Amino acid sequence: MPADVTMDKIVSLCKRRGFIFPSSEIYGGLGSCWDYGPMGVELKRNVKNAWWRTIVQERDDVVGIDTSIMMHPEVWKASGHVDSFTDPLVECKSCHLRWRADEIENQKCPQCGGELTEPRMFNLMFRTFMGPLEETASTVYLRPETAQGIFVNFENVVTTSRKKLPLGIAQIGKSFRNEITPGNFIFRTREFEHMELEYFVKPGTDDGWLDYWVKQRLDWYMSLGITKENLRLRQHGKDELAHYAKDCYDVEYLFPMGWSELEGIANRSDYDLTQHAKHSGKDLSYYDGQDGERYVPYVIEPSAGVDRSVLAFLVDSYHEEVVEGGNRVVLRLHPSLAPMKVAVLPLSRNERLAPLARDVYRRLCSSFMADYDDSQSIGRRYRRQDEIGTPFCVTVDFESLQDNQVTIRERDSLAQIRLPLEELDEALRAKLSGEAFDATTLWATREK
Ligand code: ATP
Repeated sequence: MPADVTMDKIVSLCKRRGFIFPSSEIYGGLGSCWDYGPMGVELKRNVKNAWWRTIVQERDDVVGIDTSIMMHPEVWKASGHVDSFTDPLVECKSCHLRWRADEIENQKCPQCGGELTEPRMFNLMFRTFMGPLEETASTVYLRPETAQGIFVNFENVVTTSRKKLPLGIAQIGKSFRNEITPGNFIFRTREFEHMELEYFVKPGTDDGWLDYWVKQRLDWYMSLGITKENLRLRQHGKDELAHYAKDCYDVEYLFPMGWSELEGIANRSDYDLTQHAKHSGKDLSYYDGQDGERYVPYVIEPSAGVDRSVLAFLVDSYHEEVVEGGNRVVLRLHPSLAPMKVAVLPLSRNERLAPLARDVYRRLCSSFMADYDDSQSIGRRYRRQDEIGTPFCVTVDFESLQDNQVTIRERDSLAQIRLPLEELDEALRAKLSGEAFDATTLWATREK
């Protein structure tokens, strides 16, 4: 993380440029809830698409699924969430603020130094009622993870996909946790999105697959531009493992508040399928035709937070620098994550420029997320595009009317070249699809 990045700067940029707003802001906001604005929704969708592409689209051993947020209440008894998905809660006897006991160091209230109550276990699942009767029999939970929707569909997917193990089932969707101490912007919220893969394997091969997925996941973050030095792995100690886990690694990122979990990669053993078989009475074992054996598969689970990933990508790409005698803030987002791929900027609002500039925009926006901006000075408009991480700006000027060429400015190198209009679409496509994104060398090749 560059030394000058603070959470305040990220929050302020997100507000200023339409990435993320406090939820229900006109009513004073709602604790730990956030809304994604026009830029944020694109960034978030791009993160999810990048994950789906790597995990599902580019593999023949993983399929996708999209399951219901509300599930049969027995699911959460079987999974252990009703009994064990708890955090130890303490309350300050003076100011009555509540804290997670395992996050407090000196057993005094972090707010006022007051004495704390004995810890009691607090279940993190949100409860609600299905149907018009508010009674215990109709209690349902908002899922705290998407994983259980995958486990209860294991048999459906194996049967209908006609695939053999090892087989992964992936899901992206909302999860809800009534966190005792949410905070740090979108790092810990009570409503968030999960990107989860449950990878079913033959028992005995699970340790190897855990190592495999740890490496895959680290590579994924780095392939999208996260700095290697800002990532590290932490293996869970035996006393720290969740009730279902045989082994677990956290991928940690150096957030502004310090090293914190970005993703968990767990070996869930055969815990979940065994539990669901027991509670549902259905046989969830798998017949391995190749080895002529029947077994309950083990599961390796890379589980990432969409919002936490968005935060890591924002923090890692945030740079303040002095260029051309002025300060600029730039998000050096990987082009596949950038909300806008290209901005079309007529040099001025002169009415002679508008038709051509509009025409260029219309042509580009069928291929790319493109922005059109003719307000304020060109310098200010470049500044805005830098702050939202737009890789390329296309400027239409008076010369363009004569020679049918436009100027392209590259976000990171600030290199500018002129290009015939008919080559624009193809040139942008080539640059934006480049696996290794190095605009300086791409431009250099062309200039030769
Ligand atoms: P933590 O220790 O931070 O509470 P966890 O270990 O309970 O997280 P998991 O259950 O492993 O988290 O969930 C996997 C991922 O989901 C986390 O690494 C994180 O990216 C994301 N996540 C979990 N809880 C939240 C939350 N309250 N807000 C935002 N993202 C979350």
